[in-house]
Amino acid sequence: MSRILVVGAGIIGLSCARSLLADGHEVSVLDRDPAGDKASFGNAGGVGVTEIIPASVPGLVWKVPRWLFDPLGPLSLRTAHLPKLAPWLVRFLRSGSWPDVERIAGALAGLSARTYEDMLPLLAELDLLGDLHQVGALWVYETREGFEADRRFYDLRRRYGLVFEEMSGAEAREMEPALSDVVRHALFTPQWSHVSDPKRIVDRLRVNLEQRGVPMLAGEMAALADGAVVTSAGARLPFDHLVIAAGAWSGRLAKLVGDRALIESERGYNTTLPNPGVSLSCEVIFAERQFVATPLDMGLRIGGAAEFAGLEAKPNYERSKALAELARRYLPGLSIAGGTRWMGHRPTTPDSLPVIGRSPRRGNVFYAFGHSHTGLTFGPTTGRLIGELVAGRTPCVDVAPFGIERFQ
Ligand SMILES: Cc1cc2nc3c(=O)[nH]c(=O)nc-3n(C[C@H](O)[C@H](O)[C@H](O)COP(=O)(O)OP(=O)(O)OC[C@H]3O[C@@H](n4cnc5c(N)ncnc54)[C@H](O)[C@@H]3O)c2cc1C
Repeated sequence: MSRILVVGAGIIGLSCARSLLADGHEVSVLDRDPAGDKASFGNAGGVGVTEIIPASVPGLVWKVPRWLFDPLGPLSLRTAHLPKLAPWLVRFLRSGSWPDVERIAGALAGLSARTYEDMLPLLAELDLLGDLHQVGALWVYETREGFEADRRFYDLRRRYGLVFEEMSGAEAREMEPALSDVVRHALFTPQWSHVSDPKRIVDRLRVNLEQRGVPMLAGEMAALADGAVVTSAGARLPFDHLVIAAGAWSGRLAKLVGDRALIESERGYNTTLPNPGVSLSCEVIFAERQFVATPLDMGLRIGGAAEFAGLEAKPNYERSKALAELARRYLPGLSIAGGTRWMGHRPTTPDSLPVIGRSPRRGNVFYAFGHSHTGLTFGPTTGRLIGELVAGRTPCVDVAPFGIERFQ
């Protein structure tokens, strides 16, 4: 048994803490605000098992300028952030060859294949199995051109046993009558799920761990001294093993260890509409416009966008509003009055692979971050992997592609 300090009380840190506790370790969690807002609270709630295609793909570079000129489009960069973003951006553009896409998809498929095996026991333990809706998801397209352009990605996913059933716009409307006739083509993916409320899972997991003796310490990791984390308030927290699971802030913490990680905040926005005036039975992905609508307990959540502006810039909630307005194109009965707007920091690496593994500098430091669009989906499996790595057991998924060494 060893003393393990986990930094970060999001879905990833708490999943790691849970696995480590199950192995009999003495676990503590440090977060600057354990119960405070974070990416793990306001996300779209999708269990996106098909999300194995990286963001950087061949041909993307030609779409980027068009997106960048649209101030409320799916992608934006704040120019003041460009100098900091440059190394990440260069690596992002370099990761977009087809062989890279195939390699990355193969690595993520390893995580995807374990999703339910690791998530169901977690939800059962938290008495939240009823919060998982295994009803699939629908990807919708307005144009044959857009649909055909993505065919190679669906074919690649199919190689890993992921199912996509092609349908016409009319068939999609039979399934989801709220959709307008701008939808001409669709794909149904039955393996996808969504949850009732991503925050409820994280809140319940945090409370459950606390009740089982895991202290949730409020403080900010500011430095690393001999075998201890030092917080910004000067507290010294000794550990035998340290797990860094601090989401989009993890790059700064890896630097304190002496490791380099290319990780950026890919800021995402949404609006949750308590009285949307329409209903959906499953998550709908508006594939050509890069946003989604999920039917959650508290209303219909419409979100997406990728904004690169760093960790400190103020949110631009016009993005939340723009997405809700855009959704009316697809859901003509949608009422966007009275929505709650939100922004969260997706922790995103340039190759879309998370960082899961041991520090090459310090053998007692482990990393679990960089889950980008799939932290809810791959969180429980990441926790399991960290448990296995700390214990020296063979990990259930090959973690070699997720090593931080790739950024050195
Ligand atoms: C708009 C949006 C939609 C999304 N939709 C989905 C989806 O449908 N499905 C899905 O699987 N994923 C989705 N995601 C991604 C998912 O939310 C993230 O990948 C996941 O929440 C990351 O979890 P985390 O624990 O790594 O980070 P976080 O939840 O951000 O937690 C990190 C924690 O670390 C703490 N911390 C940071 N620095 C320090 C420090 N120095 N000291 C102490 N504590 C520190 C922070 O306070 C924070 O609490 C979405 C994300 C966004 C933004």
